[in-house]
Order: sequence, then C-alpha cells, then structure tokens
Amino acid sequence: MAKRLLVAAVPVTATNTHYITSPYGIRTVTVKGKTSTGMHNGIDLVAGRGTDYIVAYESGIVTYARGDVTGNTPSEGNSVYIDHGNGFKTYYFHMKPKSVLVKAGDLVRRGQKIGYMGTTGNSTGAHLHFGIKFYNAWVDPEPYLTGLKNMGGKRMTITLRTLSQGMRGEDVKTLQQLLNAKINTSLEPDGKFGPLTNTALKKYQAASALVVDGKCGPATWSKLLGV
Ligand SMILES: [Zn+2]
Repeated sequence: MAKRLLVAAVPVTATNTHYITSPYGIRTVTVKGKTSTGMHNGIDLVAGRGTDYIVAYESGIVTYARGDVTGNTPSEGNSVYIDHGNGFKTYYFHMKPKSVLVKAGDLVRRGQKIGYMGTTGNSTGAHLHFGIKFYNAWVDPEPYLTGLKNMGGKRMTITLRTLSQGMRGEDVKTLQQLLNAKINTSLEPDGKFGPLTNTALKKYQAASALVVDGKCGPATWSKLLGV
C-alpha cells in the first residue's frame, strides 16, 4: 500500500514525521486471494526513521496499559488507553514487548513518552495504530494530528460508571488492572466483572476503609486512582 507523509502538529511519536500506511475508514484487505471489507477504526503510522517512541497525544489518565504481549493475541498487542476527560480517549496499539512505560492510574502529560512502536498483536511490521474515541465512538484521528481539530485543552472531568458484578467494558478492565496493582491479585483484565473481580474488589474495599459493597462507585474509584 502507498505510504503518505504526515507531518503532525501534535505528535504521537518522538519525531512529528509519520507515514500513514493505512488511514481511518472502510478498507478492503486481500489475504491469500480472499477479499474482505471492514472498518479500520484508527490510523496506522510508521515513523519517518526506524522504530520510534510513542508519546501521549494529550494530558490525561492512563486507564489501561499492557506490555507483556509477545505474540499475535490479543489483536491490539501491547497497548495503552488514555482518558483525556471531556469525552476524549486515545488508544495506542501493537507496542513493543516490555516497552510500555506507564500503568493504569498514571497521570500523563501531553508529549510524555509512553513506550515504543512494535509489531505485537495483529500486525505485520512495526507501526503505531492510533485511535481516538469521542464519547465512545471512534473518530478519524488524522485531523487531530494535523491540527485541524483539537480536544479543547486540558479538561480533566472524567465520568466513571459505578461498576458491579455482571457489567462489562473498558472501565471493568481498568478496575481489574488497578486491583491487581493494589492488592496483588492476578485477575485476567478481560473487561468482564465476574465473581473473582467481585471478591477482589471487596477485599480492596475492606483494606481501604471503604464501604464493602462490591460496587465500584465514586469513593472507590477515587481511592483506586489516587485522585
Ligand atoms: Zn490499524
């Protein structure tokens, strides 16, 4: 596929020069003679020179980070999710094994180094798959890189749901990771709030002088995130 040069106003790699190898949007891929059409919900960037390091697009709080993937699963490979507040979240996929420098609950600044480009997960060469969600819908990241659009400054009003058993989602993943870090449990961060997550949450609440109700509400979130 043809590479297209993109000089970013707001970089997500060490140099602000990237090549887009696959833009956001509907794409048709042919593998072994079989053609399939699907949505590419981010933008694929390769560095101007070699393998580059990745920086946070904007200030925010890390809600998910994983650096122990060496193979093809999960498809996003090693990844970092950042919640910027104000409805915006950014996603960084396929990072190099053991290169992820942040963890769930960390506050990061715009431009802060978070890890290195790699090719873990569903990837055939070192690149960064960069995604942006606005109120939980994927949007095209390109105008945010060129400076045509921005996230409206640093407004850290992050709304977290109250989580309880039976719920699913990215915020459940964040909760599982934070519990693993705080009380040394080994929950699989699968985003499914089951009995093991419930037990771990109650253990954390008991140890933190919180109401032991197995529900992750505002008081428990703020204790977990240290905010
Ligand atoms: Zn991609």
